[in-house]
Amino acid sequence: MPTTSDCSQPFLRLALPVTLRRLFDYLPPVNCDASLLRPGIRLTVPFGRRKVTGILIETTSHSDYPVEKLKRAEHPQDQEAVITDDILQLCRWAASYYQYSLGDTLSQALPVMLRQGYDLAKEAHTCWRQAPDIDPAIIEKLSRAPRQQATWEIVKAHPKGATEVALKALGAEITLLKKLADKGLIETYTHIPEKRPFHSYNPILKTSELVLNHEQQQAFEAITCDANRFSTTLLHGVTGSGKTEVYLQAIHNTLKQQQQALVLVPEIGLTPQTLERFRNRFNVPVTVLHSGLNDRERLNGWLSAFHGEAGIIIGTRSSIFTPMPYLGLIIVDEEHDLSYKQQDSIRYSARDLAIYRGKLRNIPVMLGSATPSLESLHNAKNHRYRYQKLNQRAGNAKPPHMELVDIRGKQLNAGLSETVEQAIHQTLQRGEQALVFLNQRGYAPTLSCNECGHLLDCPQCDAHLTLHRTPPHLHCHHCDLQRPIPLQCPHCNSRHLAPVGQGTERSEEVLAKQFRNINVLRIDRDSTRRKTALSDMLSIIHKGEPAILVGTQMLAKGHHFPKVTLVVILNADSGFFSADFRGPEKVGQLLLQVAGRSGRSTRPGHVIIQTQFPENQQLQQLVTQGYDAFAEGLLVQRQSISLPPFGYMTLLTAEATHAHDAHQFLATVANHAQQTIQTQNLAGPMGVKALGPMPAAMEKRQGRYRMQLFLQGASRGSLHTLLNHLIPVMESSPLGRKIRWSVDVDPLEMG
Ligand code: ADP
Ligand code: ZN
Ligand code: ZN
Repeated sequence: MPTTSDCSQPFLRLALPVTLRRLFDYLPPVNCDASLLRPGIRLTVPFGRRKVTGILIETTSHSDYPVEKLKRAEHPQDQEAVITDDILQLCRWAASYYQYSLGDTLSQALPVMLRQGYDLAKEAHTCWRQAPDIDPAIIEKLSRAPRQQATWEIVKAHPKGATEVALKALGAEITLLKKLADKGLIETYTHIPEKRPFHSYNPILKTSELVLNHEQQQAFEAITCDANRFSTTLLHGVTGSGKTEVYLQAIHNTLKQQQQALVLVPEIGLTPQTLERFRNRFNVPVTVLHSGLNDRERLNGWLSAFHGEAGIIIGTRSSIFTPMPYLGLIIVDEEHDLSYKQQDSIRYSARDLAIYRGKLRNIPVMLGSATPSLESLHNAKNHRYRYQKLNQRAGNAKPPHMELVDIRGKQLNAGLSETVEQAIHQTLQRGEQALVFLNQRGYAPTLSCNECGHLLDCPQCDAHLTLHRTPPHLHCHHCDLQRPIPLQCPHCNSRHLAPVGQGTERSEEVLAKQFRNINVLRIDRDSTRRKTALSDMLSIIHKGEPAILVGTQMLAKGHHFPKVTLVVILNADSGFFSADFRGPEKVGQLLLQVAGRSGRSTRPGHVIIQTQFPENQQLQQLVTQGYDAFAEGLLVQRQSISLPPFGYMTLLTAEATHAHDAHQFLATVANHAQQTIQTQNLAGPMGVKALGPMPAAMEKRQGRYRMQLFLQGASRGSLHTLLNHLIPVMESSPLGRKIRWSVDVDPLEMG
């Protein structure tokens, strides 16, 4: 019996949306000329007892499986590839680099409706018109069937034909259309709605451009000087320095060359203001892709890019997979933002994929940020990226003044020091607005018993339950568990339970009491759940009356508040002492981002940071010398201990209901790692090492125990070699059924 097959009839090699990291061979559909099938089309195939939608990768004359074992694919779903060549290459690279199944990667790259097998032929309209050469006798007989006659009259009234939808709206009965067609009275045809290409819009601009200042002009030239060559430019400009204006003009340049532009923005950075700026500037269609869209809207956006109708696509992380036949420029705004990294399934970085896609297409990529990631700064220093700095705020705005306030031993009123209260008071008196930032939603981080000190913890996670007041409940922000607020301590039955620490609800309450007759607006995930809530609050803020804004990260990104002149950061300390080596980098970026909300127009801004550790050197450096010196200090530290970007890292996580299963799983993997390092000669100064297994920072989450194994290496290559040996071990582990495991290449969160 043959174990492989070679055959004159070709085989189809497909990627299927399953976790197995391999491709699958099928026989071509019956009565189908396989040589006409193009890579990138969808085919339905039997898989076990299910049917799944696969993507054709190639047709081949050889299979590793005997022909009688191969199943037959069903009819192809597309004529034209829905996964275009460059997206296929991008996904292949992503699947291999992030160690994930290609089929699942391709599936994620498609809009949900296409994943689920939606037939794109439906995008064409079914139309009906009168048939030629009608037998008059048949028309006469119609008078005996009045309903058919009525429908016939409707079709006849449209000599050029009409869509089925339109005819139905006019009163035609769809079922009768078919009967009339059988009688030879009418005929059907399909009409493909005309697509207007983005480059047919003239003029390209709706409003005129600003005159770039000298620094902006240099940045513009860096990105546009060789428009049809791959390059990566890091645009490092403080908030308000005019980065967006540079993007807009670079995009204009791209559109002038009849090419499309892709702009990636962070998850919550896509504010109505940003979008409005793009739509006000360009006459050419701008399509937006974000998580708030329904499946149909997403498909429409995808189609507008795919057909070359949209000139500009603005979208969050997954938009990096949007097919754009005329792509000529990719911009990644706020490139340091964590939301570019997917934290489940395939753990890709959209920023890094953007650079790879730019290389594939041979086009420029621009990364912009006020606080670039250490990785990108490092690449700029090594001249892998071009580096452009915008030091001045555009227009008349001045950089804000930053101040540390020591809160050790100070009396605080719900987290606010007296200095802060006074500053808020003065700001309001001047008719301006103040912004209070804290990274904790809810009323308080936890509830504690005054008698025995018991804290209310989540039974499923190593975490406290957050106290919420609107509506009142306890909530675990890690597993979403919700509980009513207990009246008594579950430990000692005391009734003296008190909130501990600050959340946005509590700050809102205290500030509203203190500053009566002033609008206090809380902006966080809870207060903006209702669809128009955020825009309602923003329009109050933009009226410009004195107001206090209280909020989380949501306030930090993308917004432009002209009247905000004071920014208060309630506490900056936790990030500097976190177990995550990226803690200081992240908190530094966040602080500057929030600080950047102040004084964005003519009035000067003032930033107050409350701290228990005013002598913390990193914090000092950030406040007195700015981000460049701060980042430089962190880079020196990272280099001394070979942490990224001076080395590479991969995190293997296993979770199970019993901690020992997760431990045992990774212990076996660790053993294999040690063996592979020996046999493959991966040790040594340029080599790799495996550390662990050890419990994750939050060991228990959603009732599962989490263990981790760190793989660290001086080169990407050796780390990759090691991973390629370890994945099959994990895939075939006898513990597989009890374990969920994941691979995170270049992890940003140590979880
Ligand atoms: P960033 O994206 O770096 O935060 P923006 O592009 O939003 O900066 O610019 C901040 C403000 O300065 C905006 O109101 C913008 O209209 C204005 N601005 C930008 N560039 C110029 C320029 N060259 N001349 C005048 N105003 C400018
Ligand atoms: Zn108690
Ligand atoms: Zn929980």
